[in-house]
Amino acid sequence: MRSFDVIIIGRGMTGLSTARHLKSYGIESVCIIGPNRDFTNCSSLNAGYASCSLHDNISRIVHGHGDEAASELLGLIRRGFSGLMTEASRFDTPVTEGQVFRLTESAMEEREMLVATSWLSAHGFPAATNKTRTSSRTLTFQSDGAASASIDVRHLMDHMESDVEFTIRSDKVVGVTPHPGHIEVRTQTGGKILSQIVVVAGHVGIKALIPKLESCLVNHADQWAEFEFRGKHPALTPGSLVFADFGQYWLSVTSNQKIRAGGARYLRKWAGVEADHAWLEERITDSIRNRIADLFGVELSAASQQHAVLDLRACDEIPIIGPMFDDSRVLVSGGYMGSGLTLGYAAGAGLADFIGKGTSKSVPEIFHPKRLRSLPNVP
Ligand SMILES: Cc1cc2nc3c(=O)[nH]c(=O)nc-3n(C[C@H](O)[C@H](O)[C@H](O)COP(=O)(O)OP(=O)(O)OC[C@H]3O[C@@H](n4cnc5c(N)ncnc54)[C@H](O)[C@@H]3O)c2cc1C
Repeated sequence: MRSFDVIIIGRGMTGLSTARHLKSYGIESVCIIGPNRDFTNCSSLNAGYASCSLHDNISRIVHGHGDEAASELLGLIRRGFSGLMTEASRFDTPVTEGQVFRLTESAMEEREMLVATSWLSAHGFPAATNKTRTSSRTLTFQSDGAASASIDVRHLMDHMESDVEFTIRSDKVVGVTPHPGHIEVRTQTGGKILSQIVVVAGHVGIKALIPKLESCLVNHADQWAEFEFRGKHPALTPGSLVFADFGQYWLSVTSNQKIRAGGARYLRKWAGVEADHAWLEERITDSIRNRIADLFGVELSAASQQHAVLDLRACDEIPIIGPMFDDSRVLVSGGYMGSGLTLGYAAGAGLADFIGKGTSKSVPEIFHPKRLRSLPNVP
């Protein structure tokens, strides 16, 4: 039976980042298991923006978790962004860098922006709320120095994977069983592999492998589409990421002519929450196109490509990253609230620290799974 020091389950951004950072600790006996990326994972099928912000304004995290957690989350996501950009330049991955903005025409969201910008400024993140004019209307916009980028994520992940030089198995894990002295990992093709440490980076697959987290992780179905500006186009710098209507709509500017955009999840049955698969809905694509065209007073083409994907949230809306509360040899990471490229990259660095050093300064306790152990069904 094959045996490794570390098994990583999942070949998405989290799994690959963990592998890349383990390499720098000199750990060589590593096996990465997961189906071929192109067909399954969220990291390859997403819209390719990297962002040091979240779909929700920071005031929501401050309200739910307090100042310290919000600062830690912003710190983590910003470190993830900078690590990801360094990784991309190492592999000559096409990247266009920009800034994150929030736009609104609602007085209620404007008040939230004022609360958020005042909190950000007080905590060392320069931020401002101003008025801007699109060709159709005057909007309030929030700018808080959060960087963003449009990135060729498949190019980056292909290079990250081929550079790690670890054993890679195209298979699915069906069971993870800790024993004294080793952990047994069983795969769909009937294989059994042993390991000292297992990293569960399987996104929506985490729940099946770690039933103790099942009630803490929530799937939701979502979709994005690519559009071209017809005729005049708004003054949006390529690389920018724009959230509108409390993050209900978003767009990532990939070039002068093209955007990738998403939103309108509320049009799905139960807003896509607890879906077990994702599917494209034409009326959602229409709603995204119409809302963005209306906001900027422009015309957009029909969608040139679109994808529906399942995403994963923690029930308390901050990522779950770190060792399991009942067995620190099993590490888990997921629940990035729409910013999985940067948070997945940052999480991988933190998971490698846990394995290489036994602790991680960049992933403090607020993110560890143990914060959820008092929930019903979590023994
Ligand atoms: C519509 C949409 C658009 C998005 N756009 C963006 C974006 O542009 N930028 C951004 O930062 N974030 C975006 N996100 C979120 C982001 O894509 C995810 O948060 C991120 O990709 C998660 O990375 P991951 O490595 O944890 O998971 P994944 O990339 O999904 O990788 C997990 C892998 O684990 C595998 N796996 C699961 N179970 C098992 C098992 N039992 N055995 C073996 N392997 C297993 C899966 O097949 C998969 O390959 C978007 C999300 C959605 C829904």
